[in-house]
Amino acid sequence: MADRLTREQRSAHMARIRRANTKPELVVRRLLHGLGYRFRTQFAGVPGRPDVAFPARRRCVQVHGCFWHAHGCHLSHTPSTRTEFWEAKFARNRERDERLERAATALGWEIMTIWECETRDTVDLAKRLTDFLGPRRLG
Ligand SMILES: [Zn+2]
Repeated sequence: MADRLTREQRSAHMARIRRANTKPELVVRRLLHGLGYRFRTQFAGVPGRPDVAFPARRRCVQVHGCFWHAHGCHLSHTPSTRTEFWEAKFARNRERDERLERAATALGWEIMTIWECETRDTVDLAKRLTDFLGPRRLG
């Protein structure tokens, strides 16, 4: 059965695997934990189940891999083979990001997007997260 998967299906399958618990997301979760924030992961109460949610604050954080979401920075590129497939895939990912962000915003959630390339400088990232989330005690 697995042998009958097309190359596109196999790539999509691998993409789903890589998207969960990606390294940048773990960096952000570790940082938040270290800062003393409590949060939910894959919280179903927000459209699209954001990576990290703070229900009491009605805020959530999405961590985007630069390659999968076509950030356009030095970590992203379009593979030189099967270029059309990748461009269509990136476009779908970006459209989904925007659609979910609009849906969550319409329900009163505030969303902070963190790009993979922004997770290298954890001092700066910690400041941005603290500014976005406010005092720690809310839970
Ligand atoms: Zn990037």
